Amino acid sequence: MIDVKGVHKNFGDLEVLKGIDLEVQAGAVTVILGPSGSGKSTLLRSINHLEKVDRGLIRIDGELIGYRRRGDKLHELRERDILRQRSQVGFVFQNFNLFGHLTALQNVVEAPVSAQRRKRSEVEPFARELLERVGVGEKADAYPRQLSGGQQQRVAIARALALKPKVLLFDEPTSALDPELVGEVLDVIKELARDGSTMVVVTHEIGFAREIADTVVFIDGGRIVESGPPREVLDNPVHERTRAFISKVL
Ligand code: ADP
Ligand code: MG
Repeated sequence: MIDVKGVHKNFGDLEVLKGIDLEVQAGAVTVILGPSGSGKSTLLRSINHLEKVDRGLIRIDGELIGYRRRGDKLHELRERDILRQRSQVGFVFQNFNLFGHLTALQNVVEAPVSAQRRKRSEVEPFARELLERVGVGEKADAYPRQLSGGQQQRVAIARALALKPKVLLFDEPTSALDPELVGEVLDVIKELARDGSTMVVVTHEIGFAREIADTVVFIDGGRIVESGPPREVLDNPVHERTRAFISKVL
């Protein structure tokens, strides 16, 4: 479902991604671990063409992201087509990124209405269903500032689901939460994983990774150092850097 091949990304002189290859099968969960600054967010953002890569290709469900081929040249897609592709990817950020002037329900309804030109009245029942599903159905009319961090993040997850995306990307979805609110958000993500969503989750929650990941990928310095099933990467890492990192976050 997701295919990342030979991806390089520079910010000026800084090479942040140094040749990343990553495949995620349909229905599979990949957890990305790695130290701060190792390129995890840049990789997720590249999958969604929020960052333009300097080299390499990204495909989602077989479709080249951000570009189209003409002869042997690649041309960047028009904004409209980029937005259409982006609507196939649900993105959940560390800091929720909800619209503060919209209620929970309006936050969820917004994308299908503006990106897919669906009717508000038609989207609303589905949006309410999604809020129920993430356990904040009774908060539909609340504004983000009236919600706890855990509730806001669950609204953000409902919003990401509203476009019925092919894949879900989570960038440290619980890092900004008070410790007692982490569990309720992880539970929602676990349930989505059980239901067969294809997802990539950047997190430092090792226990959670062990529970839901089909594949754990450890990134350091813009390279994949090690990847494999949780039992290998988390419990029996081959590389010293992986071992050192895991012992630090446990
Ligand atoms: P991580 O998510 O693993 O903490 P990031 O992908 O956010 O790492 O960042 C990787 C490196 O790229 C860091 O050194 C960061 O400072 C740098 N970086 C990220 N975004 C930008 C940007 N827009 N401009 C310049 N440097 C950036
Ligand atoms: Mg990051």
